[in-house]
Amino acid sequence: MVIVGGGCVGAGILYGLAKRGWTDVALLERTQLTAGSTWHAAGLIPSYARNINVGRMINKTIEIYEGLEAETGQPVGWHKCGQLRIANSRDRLDEFKSYMSVAEVQGMRAQLLTPDEARKLWPLLDNKEMLGALYHPDDGHIAPADVTHAMAKGARDLGAKVYLNTEVTGFSRTPGGEWLVRTNQGDITCEHVICATGNYARQTGALLGLDIPAIPILHQYWITEAVPE
Ligand SMILES: Cc1cc2nc3c(=O)[nH]c(=O)nc-3n(C[C@H](O)[C@H](O)[C@H](O)COP(=O)(O)OP(=O)(O)OC[C@H]3O[C@@H](n4cnc5c(N)ncnc54)[C@H](O)[C@@H]3O)c2cc1C
Repeated sequence: MVIVGGGCVGAGILYGLAKRGWTDVALLERTQLTAGSTWHAAGLIPSYARNINVGRMINKTIEIYEGLEAETGQPVGWHKCGQLRIANSRDRLDEFKSYMSVAEVQGMRAQLLTPDEARKLWPLLDNKEMLGALYHPDDGHIAPADVTHAMAKGARDLGAKVYLNTEVTGFSRTPGGEWLVRTNQGDITCEHVICATGNYARQTGALLGLDIPAIPILHQYWITEAVPE
């Protein structure tokens, strides 16, 4: 099997497969691991999801990330600090209230807090309009690059291969029905291909004759001076 793309998704798939005994797998990354969006991510792991399948994936992700350092020996900076979502309007508060039953079905630990309860958790919260807050105690943050490298290491330790500076330039089918994956370093034949190229999904899809309706959007973030605790 070939996985294209060495971000957190490609590395996560590689690690998940290797743990299930699929070790004849090669991950191909055109530059370095985490060179795409993963490098920019803030690393927040929020479990707020109204879709049951997404919720399950988040629960599973938290479970995997929590055990990663012990499994791979690589520090990943997992910090379970919990997360507060603030409701400044009636509509937002109603949304949080209706979410509570979704959280229960999904097995997410969540609490609806009064403004005073929220301020007790985070005294710097100086928000006069706040009507309430949604608290997820199991949320946290992780170092996105470290978690990717840890999963790649875990997979390599189990026998999977990672090829850097290897750009996939095309795909074709062999007469036997296998995939011929063309790269700037040579060709690889395999039974299955997984594209985990993130923002480049459209370009990778085009190599397969697919029109992937994915559009990259701009993200912003601010970096502040350290805030004293
Ligand atoms: C500013 C910012 C903040 C964010 N904060 C968060 C957050 O707090 N929490 C959260 O969950 N998410 C966050 N995200 C989103 C998160 O970063 C992405 O969802 C995630 O990193 C996507 O990972 P990926 O592996 O799918 O893609 P990428 O990390 O983009 O990896 C794709 C890889 O594919 C490679 N590639 C592309 N084409 C080819 C090819 N032809 N051959 C070989 N390799 C190829 C690229 O080089 C790249 O390394 C944030 C994103 C940004 C931009």
